[in-house]
Order: sequence, then C-alpha cells, then structure tokens
Amino acid sequence: MEKYLCEIKEIEADEILKSINEYNADPSNKKVNLSIGVCAGNNGSVQIFNSVLKAEQIITEKYKEKPYLLSNGGDVFSLLTQKLIFGEDSKYIKENRISTIQTIGGTGAIAIALEFLKCFNICNPSIYVTNIPYINHVNMIKSNKFNLKYINFFDNNLIDINYNLFLNDLKNIDNESIIFLQPSCYNPCSINIKSEYFEEITNIVLLKKHIIVFDIAYQGFGNGEIDNDVILIRQFQEKNIPFIVCQSFAKNMSLYGERAGALHIVCKNENEKKKILSSLLIITRRFYSSPTIHTNRLVCEILQNPNLKEEWLNELKELSHHIANIRNLFFDKLQQIQNKYNLDYDWSVYKKQVGLFSYVPIFSDIFQSLKNHHIYIVKTGRINVSGITMDNIDYITEKICLCLSER
Ligand code: PLP
Repeated sequence: MEKYLCEIKEIEADEILKSINEYNADPSNKKVNLSIGVCAGNNGSVQIFNSVLKAEQIITEKYKEKPYLLSNGGDVFSLLTQKLIFGEDSKYIKENRISTIQTIGGTGAIAIALEFLKCFNICNPSIYVTNIPYINHVNMIKSNKFNLKYINFFDNNLIDINYNLFLNDLKNIDNESIIFLQPSCYNPCSINIKSEYFEEITNIVLLKKHIIVFDIAYQGFGNGEIDNDVILIRQFQEKNIPFIVCQSFAKNMSLYGERAGALHIVCKNENEKKKILSSLLIITRRFYSSPTIHTNRLVCEILQNPNLKEEWLNELKELSHHIANIRNLFFDKLQQIQNKYNLDYDWSVYKKQVGLFSYVPIFSDIFQSLKNHHIYIVKTGRINVSGITMDNIDYITEKICLCLSER
C-alpha cells in the first residue's frame, strides 16, 4: 500500500475552498468572507429559520428511533418535494410519472443524475453547461468522464445573458444534447433567464429533444416567491417535456450540513417511472445505500405542517428581501464613494442581479489585492452579498474602491 499511497499527488482545492482556507487562516478581526455560498441573515451569521428550529423540536419529540430509511426517501418526501418544483396542481404528479429520490444535498442529486445518464446508450457522451459555469458542474461532469462542452450564456460586457448567442447555441448543437440549466438565481452570474424567452427556449428544447437537467439550489431567492423561480420548469411541464431536476434545500431551508436534496426524473408514464425508480435505487444502493432519516423527517415536517410551511415561506421571503436590500445599498455606496478614488463605474447595472450572489467581473482584477485588506472573494469576481452587513459595508466598499484605483 505505501508504494501506491506515496505516488498519489495532492489535488489542489478549487477556488472556493482555497479562498475559505485562506480566510480561516487569517487572524485579523476585520476579515470578511464573501466567497463561500452560505447565506447569512441580518447579523452576518448563518441564517437560522425559526420554522426549521420548531420542526426540529417536533421531530425530536415525535421520533426516537433511527432506522434505515427506504432508499428513495419514501413517498411522502417525494410528493412534498415534487410539489415545490412542479406545483400543487401538477399534471405530472397527478399522472404519477415523476421518479423521485431523496439525495445527499443538491450535489448528491447531481452525482446520481450523472451516474444515471451513463446508462443512456450515447456514444461519446457530452454534457453542456452554460458559460460561465458553476464550478462544481464542471468538476463533476469531467470526473464522470463526460465530454464537457459550453454554450454561450453570460456576457461580461452586458452584465446579462446574451440571448442571441444562447438561443442560437441551443438551436445549433446536436439534437438530444444534455444541458445543465439553472432555472433561477444562476450561480455564479446571479441572473434569471427573462420570462419573455421561456416560450422560445421551451420550443427549441421540444423540437431538438434536448435533455435538460435543471439544477435548482436557490428556489425562493429570485424575488421571494418560490413559485416564480420555477416558471420555466412549469412551462416544460405544460408542453409535456421530460426532464431532470436536481433540488437543494441547503440555502432555502438553511440546511447546509443536513445535506437535504432530491432528484426528480420526469418519465413518460407510471410504468416507466417504476422502471426508472428501480434504477435510481440500485445506483443509490451502490453509493451510500440510503439517504439520511433526520433530514427526511425535518424536510417533511416543514412541508407537511401548514403552519410551519407558511412560517418558513415568510422567513424565506424576508431573507430574500434582506439580501436584495443589501445588494442595492452596496452598489449605491460604491457609486457614491468612487469619486473619492477617481473612479467612474456604473454600479447600477449590478442592482438587477438576484439570489445570494453578485457577479462583478471587474472584481476578478482585485481579488488578490482585496486579501491584503482581509476581504475574501472568488477569483471570478463573485461575491456572497449576504456576507455584507451594516457593520462592514463601509469598510468593504472603501477597500474595493481603493484596490480598483491602485490597479
Ligand atoms: N447547485 C448549485 C448551482 C449550487 O450553487 C449549489 C450550492 O452551492 C449546489 C448545487 C449544491 O447544493 P448542496 O449544498 O445541497 O449540495
């Protein structure tokens, strides 16, 4: 064994992990972490939902045993999580054609989805991601031995999606291409696809028979209404298109370490659903056997108990508004103080961004120098807006302007 172990090379951490490590090692009491994708509330520490605390208390009293869970997480979990994505009145749910399993977070859903996609009889299989991509899509697709391909999406000059290029690529790539899309609060670009393009996207996907994997990790952060963040998915449902959804509850229930997620695969009918479910269960069995029971009970309690669900949705709305307010304040402050540093940027373009992050390409030029001021961001220029508080906003905006002026 020694001979093999010593041959293994150390793998460099990805940009986000690297930045977190540097932040942790920084002894300064001024340090600010704007790199990690964890959502902080008003006071700058990890958001705590009262609804989740109450659910936790209920389930701790209700259940004492912790047996193995059915490997799909059970029918109750499936139905409750499906409703958030497909709607209370979903025809796919009524037709009983969605194969759902509880997964180890949204990442687990992506991992199982990729494993499942390997069962497709595709020679030289490729997966498309929109550019610039979520870095873990890239890592996971590559390590699963798919060819990673890009389609045009975000334009750094427009600070928006370049719809011409994006739609052209969707039209021009091979039929039946597998494409990862984020239906809302796109990480890292912090943008939503505009609803006026939904019809065209849906028609192209229908015509080209593309296989869409929706990765939804920020439902509820778009503008505080969870239904509004899945309108594109619901439009696919209207048109009877089959697709895959990877769902995460890390951010919208603040259940990061509980690893709460689900994978949904829309099938042709109930018979096909049974077949696909059996395949997902075999894949799960090979990896980790069954999902986590505490997480299952927690998510079910929140979604099943009408009072808790209402409280959770209100808390989520509040959090989403808080982040939107901080974003506006942050870019307004940059606009105001930049004169002092002889800068002349238009910061207002970033105020349209949505979700936990803001993506500011010009920050990639100063991500190194910001570290000298104990401010940690991701190399691409993505910042976690919820890490900005009333206590540190002046410090952060001053240092950003200083670093930009020294470039
Ligand atoms: N997908 C996207 C786009 C994300 O941003 C994240 C988390 O940051 C995930 C998936 C993974 O979520 P989880 O923590 O539930 O694995």
